[in-house]
Amino acid sequence: MSFSADNALVLFSGGQDSTVCLAWALERFARVETIGFDYGQRHAVDALVAISDTALTREVAIEVSASGLPTTFVPGRNLVFFTFAGAVAYRRGIKHIVAGMCETDFSGYPDCRDDTIKAMQLALSFGMDRRFVIHTPLMWIDKAATFALAQEIGGAPLIDVLLTDTHTCYLGDREHRHAWGFGCGECPACRLRADGYAKWKTAA
Ligand code: ZN
Repeated sequence: MSFSADNALVLFSGGQDSTVCLAWALERFARVETIGFDYGQRHAVDALVAISDTALTREVAIEVSASGLPTTFVPGRNLVFFTFAGAVAYRRGIKHIVAGMCETDFSGYPDCRDDTIKAMQLALSFGMDRRFVIHTPLMWIDKAATFALAQEIGGAPLIDVLLTDTHTCYLGDREHRHAWGFGCGECPACRLRADGYAKWKTAA
């Protein structure tokens, strides 16, 4: 298979951000593939879970720990994801990797920072001796702007998919339906999503 500049691999979790990234990629690239990871997170139903003790993978309260990082931080998660994605992209002849990291609604995750992603792009490109480009279309926009971007790309049907089918809640709550989608309404991810939706609705 030849190495194609027209192909993209999207890190896809089924959440709102990666769904918008998928739509973004479909607009730009001739061929788009997705890769997903099951790392034993609470809201999915086993690899990182064995070496990490965080609120996303265990029954630990979601709060800011003594290190100053939220307990939902899974050390090394995105670094591992990108390494696997790079390996898959290499084998599939894909140049572009698209991911939903965002520094604007910064939850304190160091592996969501723009500098981390740029460093990963270099590490993958040097380490596999192939030019990879990592795109993070949501890096500098907030959740309200993410809704606006989705509206721009896919209109009401895409907004509908975001609200009905995507999943963000850290606790995996699919019982409670709000204007902004399903979720417990209390965890940091739900609050971000609810606030972003309200802000977008007000501006629209
Ligand atoms: Zn929640």
